[in-house]
Amino acid sequence: MKLFNTLSRSVEQFKPITELKVGIYACGPTVYHYAHIGNMRTYIFQDILTKSFRHFGYCVQHVMNITDVGHLQSDADSGDDKLMLGAARENKTPFEIARFYEDEFFRHSRMLGIRRPDVVCRATEHISDIISMIERLITKGIAYLSAGNVYFNVEKFPSYHELGRLKLKEQQATDRVAHDPLKCNQSDFALWFSTSKYPNQVMKWESPWGSGFPGWHIECSAMASKILGEHVDIHCGGVDHISVHHSNEIAQSESCFGHRWVNYWFHCEFLNIDAEKMSKSKGEFLTVDTLTARNYDPLAFRYLVLGSHYRSPMMFTWKALDSATTALLKLRNRVLAIQKKGTVSGSTHSQHYDTYLDRFFGHLKNDLHTPSAIAELWSVIKADKLNDAERIDLLSVFDKILGIGLFQNDSIDSSEEYAPLIAARNAARSAKNWTEADRIRDLLLKQGIQVKDTKHD
Ligand code: AMP
Ligand code: ZN
Repeated sequence: MKLFNTLSRSVEQFKPITELKVGIYACGPTVYHYAHIGNMRTYIFQDILTKSFRHFGYCVQHVMNITDVGHLQSDADSGDDKLMLGAARENKTPFEIARFYEDEFFRHSRMLGIRRPDVVCRATEHISDIISMIERLITKGIAYLSAGNVYFNVEKFPSYHELGRLKLKEQQATDRVAHDPLKCNQSDFALWFSTSKYPNQVMKWESPWGSGFPGWHIECSAMASKILGEHVDIHCGGVDHISVHHSNEIAQSESCFGHRWVNYWFHCEFLNIDAEKMSKSKGEFLTVDTLTARNYDPLAFRYLVLGSHYRSPMMFTWKALDSATTALLKLRNRVLAIQKKGTVSGSTHSQHYDTYLDRFFGHLKNDLHTPSAIAELWSVIKADKLNDAERIDLLSVFDKILGIGLFQNDSIDSSEEYAPLIAARNAARSAKNWTEADRIRDLLLKQGIQVKDTKHD
């Protein structure tokens, strides 16, 4: 397997720490609101990554945290705890908010065919591990106490900018605008908040530095090392985490352990809407439920996402989702048509079968090149050299990784003739052209095709 490593900014041959084992830590959702479809793009690729490793015979331990405390509005250690904001918004306790949105996150993940990680760990359930790690950093003289808070001193970690490759000035310009008199250097970051400006904080625990709560970055370092050990194969997240969150995680962990912590950093580029990064804090964002409310199959979104390489920024449009819906429907109908001929799995396969199989997995081994893997899928559909049994067998193997529900065809019409109409209706709905959408719905109804009617918004 070859993977792009953000640390070296190059595609590298993956070498596991222990033969045929791979430990993967993924920064999980901050559960103060629904995850948006941009977040889900990142998790879809982590799913493809872990499924590919499993296919290649690795024993995978996939760990994901749940950020349920300590993630402030700003990376500069200012603003409110996002969980407190969620609680205020919905008049609930932060714990209620956290559990509710955690469940919703996994519900959406299931709808997108994302396998639940092997270990899911909540920051609020690892407070003692977090405190122990901070104590180690203080003992080593790397973290310091200032007005009751504990900060990490970035000057004690000379390779602080290795991952982000930002010069100190650029870092300060992008992320650390607010001057904080409690810090020795403005790039220092909080490990523990106790007496600063959070008098109303509900989620707090006793610590050697007073009652308080952990900083977001130390949570990941403490949980990852507790579960996967002090040397980790792969750490994942979105590209927004490179310059601050992951740089801080490296600084804390490597200062604490005294050696390289993570071998490969796997970052997914952003899904954008209208040229802007989709963001939960802006309040307006699309979720998996938004897609289903508009009658889209969440797996059509997965198909759409897999059509762009994970390292390319991707622009979401309803038109693109319509095309993905049509394409997926076409694929499922092809599968159904083959199955209807009474085709069963073949006991022997020709060399052509092996060629397609090798090509498909070759694309995944090539830095998870899913667009080429999808193209290979279409070649299999069209290839004259393959018989139907081989075709079905190949598609079944491919779908174990791609997870686009190629064999989920009980609920769809076996003919492709309605796909353009359904796509046109979806396009009309996206354009809020309700008259046209209703006209097409009635047209479909007349032909015996019922589409679920939803709210006009
Ligand atoms: P959060 O819940 O904000 O901590 O984010 C969860 C994950 O989604 C993190 O790995 C982020 O880096 C990633 N992420 C955030 N916004 C986007 C986006 N627009 N597109 C892709 N990934 C994102
Ligand atoms: Zn993290």
